[in-house]
Amino acid sequence: MTTKLQFWGAAENVTGSLHHITTQGGRHLFLDCGLFQGHRQESIERNQTFPVDATMVDAVILSHAHLDHSGNLPVLVKQGFNGPIYATPATADLIKILLSDSAHLMKRDLDYLNKRRLARGQDLIEPLYTQEDVDCTLELLVPVNYLMPLVIFDEVTITFFDAGHILGSAITELKWKSAETGRETILVFTGDLGRDHLPILKDPTNLTEADYIITESTYGGRLHDSIEKVGEDLTRIIKDTVKHRGKIIIPAFSVGRTQEILYEIAQLKAKNAIPEIPIYLDSPMAIEATQIFNRHLECFDTETMEQLKAGKNPLFPPGVFFLKTTDESKELNNIDFPCIIISASGMCEGGRVVHHIANNCDRRNNVILFVGYQGQHTLGRKIMDGAYEITLFGETHRVNCRIEKILAFSAHADEQELLTWLQHFNKKTLKRIFLVHGEPEAQVKLTDSLEKNGFENLHIGKHGETIKLI
Ligand SMILES: [Zn+2]
Repeated sequence: MTTKLQFWGAAENVTGSLHHITTQGGRHLFLDCGLFQGHRQESIERNQTFPVDATMVDAVILSHAHLDHSGNLPVLVKQGFNGPIYATPATADLIKILLSDSAHLMKRDLDYLNKRRLARGQDLIEPLYTQEDVDCTLELLVPVNYLMPLVIFDEVTITFFDAGHILGSAITELKWKSAETGRETILVFTGDLGRDHLPILKDPTNLTEADYIITESTYGGRLHDSIEKVGEDLTRIIKDTVKHRGKIIIPAFSVGRTQEILYEIAQLKAKNAIPEIPIYLDSPMAIEATQIFNRHLECFDTETMEQLKAGKNPLFPPGVFFLKTTDESKELNNIDFPCIIISASGMCEGGRVVHHIANNCDRRNNVILFVGYQGQHTLGRKIMDGAYEITLFGETHRVNCRIEKILAFSAHADEQELLTWLQHFNKKTLKRIFLVHGEPEAQVKLTDSLEKNGFENLHIGKHGETIKLI
């Protein structure tokens, strides 16, 4: 039997990453098992349908902890999967908090919806999964260190390499001896590919040999701002706000962006580039995530390690207060001196940051600083696009504060960075490159650019399509 690759999730879109491999021996392997996030009904159907019955799946390889790559694992488990889930140790730690949070948010949303359905005499809706399903999923995790080859089954060897995207993110290399050619076949799956020079993490590993590559293509046709400018922008915004005695509210994702902001602030403090003002990290999940970062030094780059060796932890800079309780969070409403409040959620769709926005957006001397992508129809996008008024907790608020953005932080490689990473491969032995995890426009642009740079046999994966890997 020939090894086969079937595209399933994140095919011509960027959600619900899942690629299905059938080995020569007929075993089923999933690369990722991400949550499809879209309209409610479509999401329910998509997330409950797998390319093969869950009980037939032998193993899952998880590229990283983001929910669009890991968030549907509890459904797979609920439907009968009980094989190993291979992930790096940091990913295994991070998905504990991310999956639990996902189950919690599903419950919260449904509690609200079901209350209304109950009043109308309608049937109640079950959540996609519960904390119990998450607990069963976590038991199946098998941590695998970077660079440690592991034979899983049918003589398929997997090895994880740094992907430089988020803590624990991995590029996966799969190797097997082809029954047809008698030669070794190498498949490389990028997962989400990060960027060189991002704070904290090691850069993506450059690999050179592969027969097949499954690459993400999120930023095809686009280029990011240089990460080197972040310090300069942050200094200007902080100095300016302190001069006007204002507060800076930074909505930030708990995993990744929060730690990058802390790191950048630590660098500025070390250089005495910014005035001494208190910084509040107001998100229990971000605090937990920061502690997980601190346990995984194997993911840190040389610059971060040097600071640690010098006794300075850039994830816990001086002057940062970690607020766990709601009472501590509410205390922030009473302070009237300049400060920085970092809080989740990153797109202002819930969490404590919404309260801080409600309390501070009407004053001209305050700033809301966006440091990440704001999805369509989110409160964050509305504010970033210049909304004059917003309604929060039933009250209308004028947005008089300044709106700033630093968007150079993206954790995904842009087109040039993807191209540079792919250029390291030996084109003579490369048979095919499959593009996944991208919108159609981005994928077409990346395909054009790769062709111009001498790559051949490019293929955009379609949902349900099966390809033989000889
Ligand atoms: Zn990701």
